[in-house]
Amino acid sequence: MMTHDASSQLDSLFERMRDANERSLGYPSAKDFDYAAIERFLKFPINNVGDPFADATYRVETRECEREVVAFFAELFRAPQDDWWGYVTNGGTEGNLYGLYLARELLPNGMVYYSEQTHYSVAKNLHFLGMRHITIRSQASGEIDYEDLRETLKIHRDVPPIIFANIGTTMTEARDDVRAIAKIMDDLAIRQRYIHSDAALSGAYAGLLDPRPAYDFSDGADSIAVSGHKFLGAPIPCGIVIARKHNVQRIARAIDYIGSLDTTISGSRNGYSPLMLWYRLRELGLDGIKRRLAHSLELAAYLETRLNEIGVAAWRNPNAITVVLPRVSDAIRAKWQLATAGAISHVIVLPNVTREQLDAFTADLAAERAAHEA
Ligand SMILES: *Cc1c(COP(=O)(O)O)cnc(C)c1O
Repeated sequence: MMTHDASSQLDSLFERMRDANERSLGYPSAKDFDYAAIERFLKFPINNVGDPFADATYRVETRECEREVVAFFAELFRAPQDDWWGYVTNGGTEGNLYGLYLARELLPNGMVYYSEQTHYSVAKNLHFLGMRHITIRSQASGEIDYEDLRETLKIHRDVPPIIFANIGTTMTEARDDVRAIAKIMDDLAIRQRYIHSDAALSGAYAGLLDPRPAYDFSDGADSIAVSGHKFLGAPIPCGIVIARKHNVQRIARAIDYIGSLDTTISGSRNGYSPLMLWYRLRELGLDGIKRRLAHSLELAAYLETRLNEIGVAAWRNPNAITVVLPRVSDAIRAKWQLATAGAISHVIVLPNVTREQLDAFTADLAAERAAHEA
């Protein structure tokens, strides 16, 4: 039995969350989902401990769903036939940590290169792993500065490079060109190397864009991480990481206690998120994802135009669903929950965002500007 007190606390928490959820344009969490069909699985202590592709002794698990989810992304990321492996993570950060861990095991003396615009969690990951790293300049768009990368790689030619590429930077959704990065290393005759793509936001749709950004296995990436709760949408943070299987096999260890391989980062693993992602992919299909992407791109272009019309210098990277604008006031920032860094703020036009919301947001900005001029 729940006490009256706890129950009224839950009610007010629920209402607060519902209100906040309606006015949030700045963080990359899609909200157009309904997981009612799988709510009943919350009755079970689901645990996918161990490798998703190996058998395990504990059977309250969703490995079959997990394997299907991983296979879907391996195909979307054009992973080589029979040479991919992956698992469902607790988010983009864990996928990035896994990619860097794998790179370190393969190239223990490696040096990590990443651009200034890299997500804040990456420096912490590198600290955990004790990996040396060099920051490369970014262009104004947020994309890595290829000349700075080339010059820096040249100076350190004796150390195998591990490139941490951004496929959609946090603030401006800039995508580093993995093919161009691989070409730079080819030109410098650097053969021992590793490229990880951080596709936390864009990974769920980058492969469906035209032109297709160069970010995947065919372009030269060795591992890719994506978040599941961002573009696809989920009530719990989750993600997927895919890597080349022959690399993973070099670091796998068999553990008797669980009757499986210890290939993943955590011991007990969330078994509910693989089910969620499986259900989401089944429900949407590739067509559903494409439809949601088209909606986001159309409305992002709409918002950019509307803001320019009222005199706000908003801009967007090519085929981005993120609209960048000069830093907004604290009042607007709080009302619309906009992420802000230095001189810029952004709106991420996720598939749940409506034209009416964008009109209301534009009207708020216009009213503020009019008040300033009066
Ligand atoms: C969101 C994000 C991350 C972190 O992913 P989580 O799912 O929040 O752990 C890493 N990199 C980029 C570029 C991101 O946008």
